[in-house]
Amino acid sequence: MLLLIDCDGILANYSKFFLDHLNLFNSYNNRPTDYTPDQITGWHIYDSLPEIEKESKKEVREFIGKNAKHIPFIPGAIEGIKRLKQKHDIVIVTTPSYSSDTWTSDRAKWLYKNFAIKDKDIIYTARKELVDGDVFIDDSVENVLKWYDKHNNKNKTPVLFDQPSNRILDDLQEDRRILANSFRIKGWDNLIKKIDFLDSA
Ligand SMILES: [Mg+2]
Repeated sequence: MLLLIDCDGILANYSKFFLDHLNLFNSYNNRPTDYTPDQITGWHIYDSLPEIEKESKKEVREFIGKNAKHIPFIPGAIEGIKRLKQKHDIVIVTTPSYSSDTWTSDRAKWLYKNFAIKDKDIIYTARKELVDGDVFIDDSVENVLKWYDKHNNKNKTPVLFDQPSNRILDDLQEDRRILANSFRIKGWDNLIKKIDFLDSA
């Protein structure tokens, strides 16, 4: 199968990376904080944080923009990709960063070093629904629903990779919320089980 896999939230722990640096930045500025990804309950990180944090937005973004090579992993991702690669074609579909000059090239190096994923197997786009494959795995409800709308076919499988940031779906109408939740998979172990099941069907 051709598996389309998002990077942040599936392989890379962007929220943790961001919050660790925000905590560090705050401690330098004598207002220590201990934010963790569980506190991020919406798509935009700052919406889940106190108003005061908006002041640090620019500095923290700039700093992490230069450090994409050091982003931490989602638990189980390294073993999971290794396992899936044995049988499947893997393509990473990730949104590029326009605020950092080095983000995309650093990301490519990170993917190769840690997952042996080559440049040719990375697609940078925010229009993820335009990419065709058998399984689409992403932690953005919007991306998953858009991909589903475009590829609504019994042989195509959208997966919403569970994260604290995609659990509250108040903005959606009930039928869309039920649909999004029906695509939800929690953690890499369950993701592997799902792929194995689809492969055997
Ligand atoms: Mg993501």
